[in-house]
This record gives sequence, structure tokens and C-alpha cells, in this order.
Amino acid sequence: MNRKKVTLGIEIGGTQTSFGLVDISGNCYIESKIPTKANESPEALFERLYKKFNKVYKGESNKYELLGVGIGAPSANYYKGTVEYSSNLNWIYVNIIDLAKKYFDLPIVIANDANAAALGEMKFGVAKKMKNFIQLTLSRGFGSGIVVDGNIVYGSDGFAGEIGHTIVEKNGRSCGCGRKGCLETYVSVGGLVRTYYELLSKINETSVLKEFSPNQINADLVLRAAKNGDKLAISAFEYTGQILGEALANVVAYLSPEAVILSEGLAAAGDLLLNPTKHHMEKNMLNLFQGKVEILLSGLVKGNVAILGASALSWHNIQKNK
Ligand SMILES: [Zn+2]
Repeated sequence: MNRKKVTLGIEIGGTQTSFGLVDISGNCYIESKIPTKANESPEALFERLYKKFNKVYKGESNKYELLGVGIGAPSANYYKGTVEYSSNLNWIYVNIIDLAKKYFDLPIVIANDANAAALGEMKFGVAKKMKNFIQLTLSRGFGSGIVVDGNIVYGSDGFAGEIGHTIVEKNGRSCGCGRKGCLETYVSVGGLVRTYYELLSKINETSVLKEFSPNQINADLVLRAAKNGDKLAISAFEYTGQILGEALANVVAYLSPEAVILSEGLAAAGDLLLNPTKHHMEKNMLNLFQGKVEILLSGLVKGNVAILGASALSWHNIQKNK
């Protein structure tokens, strides 16, 4: 029997760790997940992960030829194979590659989750034919992966591509990084809710969400209200798009990408976010670039985005080293 060539994609997230086998066409097999427990050691997490993997893989192993392992994790360093100072995982410094080698005798590569997502778009999603683009993950945080000439930009220390922590408002909102006015505090799931509250207190406009108590309001509710025509909720998306569009006008000046791809979280808003983002990006962009940069929604199957991204890290390495 011809065994299917696959790589194993592992995505370590703040609340869950998911994995799956992915072939070169982006088909996902035996995907599964385990909870990521707060305050658990990375060693214990890998032990549980391997147990779960073995359980689902054991009966199927004759179907696949496993070529490598790709791992996406927050604050991961591609060069060193480490996760450093991850507030999402409560890990200070862990060498993930050394840890994973105990279980998988295969080439292993690790990168931060946003970089993995960018490679996922390039291998399997809307960026298949692109060599220069930016991928933004707009969920709890603002993740960004930058692709230049077909390769992820890792920078001198492996941490390049922190667009979410560029300051867009002097003395603006407090950010988890300890500074003020970062893009992430405006353009993320939490940022949208903060904007909604600010507008609620400033504008004399009624909103269907007024009946909810403050701790009940989340980005999904604001999105649903906006889709139903709630003016205040729509304004919250317009402001979010304005901040994002202005920031992207600067990013374009540095990198001249073909496209900016939005995924997860706020990307679910579609045109509610895309339209103001496009408008303000064009309005603030150097005329040299105007009308050239597309803003697109992710082309990856929802639910498998993280696994596809992590697996793409491994596929990218295999193809590069051929
Ligand atoms: Zn910040």
C-alpha cells in the first residue's frame, strides 16, 4: 500500500493544544486536541500530547509516512527552537525542540503561531501564488506574519513581525506588553469591545446591547449587533477599521506586499471590517502604492487553521532543504 506523505502540525495555544497530520495538498487527518492547562510544565504537556497522539495514530500508522513535525506556539523563536516569556503559556524559557525530540525522531521546526499561520496561507490558502504578503490574526491578540520573497521574516533575533505592538496612539490604551497605545489594544477581539464601551459612553446613540451588563458584552455580541444594523456596534467596527487601515498604510510603505490577509476573530466581521480598513489604508497610503494592495480574508478551513499553519512550517522546511 502506498503510504501518504504527511507532516505533523502541533499548535500550542493558551487554552488548547491541537494536532493533526497534513498532506501536501492541505488535507488534514487524525486531528485531535488536548486542553493546555495553566501552570502545567511543558514536560507534562508534551507527555499528555504524545499519549493522545499515540492513541489516535497507532491503528493508522501504516497509512502514513511521517516526514517531519511543525510546531506553532506563542512567543516561539524559530532560530533557537524556544518559547520565551510567553504570557499566554506562563513559560519563561523552554527549548521546545529538545523536548519534542524525546518523542519524535524527525526534523522538527517551531515558529510563533502568526508566522505559522502565514505559511499556512502560502501553502494551502489564499496566498498560494504570492511571495510578498502579510498575514494578520485578529483574535485575543494581534498576530502578524510577514512573508518577503517567499520566506517568513524572522529578523536578527527570531522575533520579527510584531506589528501588533507598534504604537498607534501616543499615551493610548494600556497594553499587555507594559506600554501604551499599541495597535493590538485597538485591533483585536478585546480592542473592539473597549472601543464599543468608549463609544457607548461618548455618543448619544441607543444600542441593543445596552440591556446587557458590562461583563456580558463580548466581540461576538458586538458583531451580531452590527450585522443587525446597530449603529453603535457598526461605529465600533468602523473605528477599528480606521486604526487598522492607518497602521497598514505605514506597513505597506515598509514592505510593499501584494496583499494583507485577515484571519480568525475579527475577520468574521467580513465587510464590516474590510471596508473601513481598505478606505483608511488607501486614504493614508503613499500614492505609489495606492490601488495595489489587496485586503483578503483567510482561505483556510475554519477549525483547522492552526494545524495547517504548524504543518506548513514543516512542509516549507522540507521543500527548502530539497
Ligand atoms: Zn503592546
